[in-house]
Amino acid sequence: MADWQKTVAGPVILEGVGVFSGKNIRVELWPAQVEAGIVFERSDLKGRPRIKLCPENVVGTEGATVLSDGKNDIFMVEHLLSALHGLGIDNVFVRVYGAELPLLDGSAELYVREIMRVGLKLQPKRKRYIEILRPFEVRNGVGRITFKPASELRLSFHIHFDHPLIRDQKLSLRITPLTYQRELAFARTFGFKEELLRRKERGLLKGGSLQNAIVLDEKGLLNGDGLRTEDEFVRHKALDLLGDLYITGLTFKGEISAEFSGHKLHIEAVKSLLAAPEITRLSDGLPPVALFFFSKVPPGVRPRL
Ligand SMILES: [Zn+2]
Repeated sequence: MADWQKTVAGPVILEGVGVFSGKNIRVELWPAQVEAGIVFERSDLKGRPRIKLCPENVVGTEGATVLSDGKNDIFMVEHLLSALHGLGIDNVFVRVYGAELPLLDGSAELYVREIMRVGLKLQPKRKRYIEILRPFEVRNGVGRITFKPASELRLSFHIHFDHPLIRDQKLSLRITPLTYQRELAFARTFGFKEELLRRKERGLLKGGSLQNAIVLDEKGLLNGDGLRTEDEFVRHKALDLLGDLYITGLTFKGEISAEFSGHKLHIEAVKSLLAAPEITRLSDGLPPVALFFFSKVPPGVRPRL
């Protein structure tokens, strides 16, 4: 079957608490035309500034992935990007009524559910991929990400936390819309009680709660409803990685393995990979540098019904 570009078939609207601000924030996904890519709008600001998703406009921090044009920011884009990547959505216009995306339940499940309820629309242009031609590795301390050639996207993740519910967890998965929905979308973000309390005391994470994260103390879990799977932790890390790999708006063909890494290293790794000569190629034969030509919001990008 030909691999066509996709957008959402109609508007998708979600609302929830932003973990940093504690405010209720609305996000809307609107259909966008072919080749529009993924364009965000700060719909709460005067002039409704738009920020195109592209590597230059993304910064990875320890706690979140941030989209920024240097003036306007949108925090916590990773779970939405993960859902878009996992479902294979190429073109979408995202209206955000705040400086961050709502955390929802801490996973990508609500995005997936609402997007699939509205449906996807095929568009008359082939999808473009980033092919990995040679092995490439990025390290930072104990963190490591490796990229290897492959004919499809496969992710592996390895984490280790000295906690009785986590210890060593590993996952390896071929990513398709089906495996994404079944194996990753439900996995919630997690944090440790002491660290969360410290950050709350400093006025950070105003919206953090047991409704939008797994919270661990020294021995176990504070959430009364338990884990969704025993390895929900590594599954969430893979969900995050998939989101961070989508900062180009293009899917990789390759085998990507991450160990002990987070958003900061994920984003650095993608940028280093794209900047390295002769390691990647776009599937339509264009050099990866062509990505930079797509980095501006194309004129005429409007939500379309
Ligand atoms: Zn996450």
